[in-house]
Amino acid sequence: TTVYVPRDSAALSLGADEVAANLAQEADRPIRIVRNGSHGMLWLEPLVEVVTERGRIGYGPVEPDAVAGLVAAGMLDGAGHELCQGVVAELPWLRDQTRLCFARVGVTDPLSPEDYVAHGGLAGLRRALRLPPADVVAEVTESGLRGRGGAGFPAGIKWKTVAGTPGPLKFVCCNADEGDSGTFADRMLMEGDPFTLIEGMTIAAYAVGATEGYVYIRSEYPDAVRTMREAIAVAREQGWLGENVLGAGHTFDLFVRVGAGAYICGEETAMLESLEGKRGMVRAKPPIPAITGLFGKPTVVNNVLTLASVPAILAGGAAAYQALGVERSRGTQVFQLAGNVARGGIFETAFGMTLHELVHTYGGGTRTGRPVRAVQVGGPLGAYLPATGLDLPMEYEAFAAAGAMLGHGGVVVFDDTVDMASMARFAMEFCAEESCGKCTPCRVGAVRGVEVIDKIVAGQDPDGNLALLGDLCELMTEGSLCAMGGLTPMPVRSALLHFADDFGPKRAGDF
Ligand code: SF4
Repeated sequence: TTVYVPRDSAALSLGADEVAANLAQEADRPIRIVRNGSHGMLWLEPLVEVVTERGRIGYGPVEPDAVAGLVAAGMLDGAGHELCQGVVAELPWLRDQTRLCFARVGVTDPLSPEDYVAHGGLAGLRRALRLPPADVVAEVTESGLRGRGGAGFPAGIKWKTVAGTPGPLKFVCCNADEGDSGTFADRMLMEGDPFTLIEGMTIAAYAVGATEGYVYIRSEYPDAVRTMREAIAVAREQGWLGENVLGAGHTFDLFVRVGAGAYICGEETAMLESLEGKRGMVRAKPPIPAITGLFGKPTVVNNVLTLASVPAILAGGAAAYQALGVERSRGTQVFQLAGNVARGGIFETAFGMTLHELVHTYGGGTRTGRPVRAVQVGGPLGAYLPATGLDLPMEYEAFAAAGAMLGHGGVVVFDDTVDMASMARFAMEFCAEESCGKCTPCRVGAVRGVEVIDKIVAGQDPDGNLALLGDLCELMTEGSLCAMGGLTPMPVRSALLHFADDFGPKRAGDF
């Protein structure tokens, strides 16, 4: 009997290792325990799956102490139990998704090359290696893939710039510094299916002529660091990385570098500084990293989800990917539901689903059962949307038109007990804490922002201070060197616009 017990850090934090140990001890027959990634239904973790003739039957959430009782109740035969969720692949949460990036996450053993290939792995890389590099770039451009890290810049255009910049040494850097609140898709992908990221980076390297790659992972992700390092070692042994990738003559090797916990290192140029061993400070652009990147060489910098989308694009063709999504948001995005939500986790779907559907139909509303009051999309620099504004389709331009942003796809839900003035204050405080200090509007503006919000809430000259806050937001938006200072006003302004009553008796006015 084969039993799956996740090794993803979300499951580990809930006792998955003890569950696996107890299963090995309590089983009434020989069992094979496979440590898989998480399917992303975090409210069911640890989710134990038993392979039966009907499919993989899930039990969750399984606490370590519950294992003996579950075995006695016939779990290893797939018997019914109050924790039994039925056939996992048929659960609406999974069935309704379009999983391209996350196709194998939760399904396979993350470190088994056989499992990877058996579930469609390497199909994209094999096809890419048969095409001229320029055709691979063209395929990614035609797919409509845009950077999933937040900026939404077309990946193919970035790759074309790197490919077209001559030089003997080029790099592919993967930004896995996932620091946005409510985001965890990069981590889950790296822990649950690291070979997909390796394959995506190898395709990128072949397309642009790069020979070396780095995955920059935040130090808060020790399990992801370990899994990526092990997966890279396996990939080298398999000949998927190294001097002659899959025997096709291209050289590409990959290394993991661990960040030291600065949010700003998620900004691509600060990440490059950090990779070079320097303090994580933002570089002025131009020059852009595609031309003058890591160690001054042409460099592709993409987020984990961008690069992990590439194998599916090459395997299925640009047209199939392009057929998904709406307007200029093509393909799928891995949305992450977090905060005060009944069912949190990963939901990969084509762009276009409404935020309301995500939060209510799939997320099940708040965990506290109270009404949803606000939803923040796109990390700590994203806008707060009111409960009445959730009909927005999940796509880049619709969000921009609403004064919001999709960012990295993080969705954080708040109930009606949230105080939005303190959330606005938090945005400024976060910026003051995480600012790299290079430019004045951000470094000083964020500190002044905290002070002025405190004065408004304390009722000190609300009209004057609201006007001052408006000016400050404008200055930060227009005058900051990067998105850290430039976007901090977004949550502040949205809180003022939609939740003015929380800021005291005075209305926020029209900024
Ligand atoms: Fe640094 Fe802030 Fe300026 Fe960005 S906006 S460069 S984080 S000081």
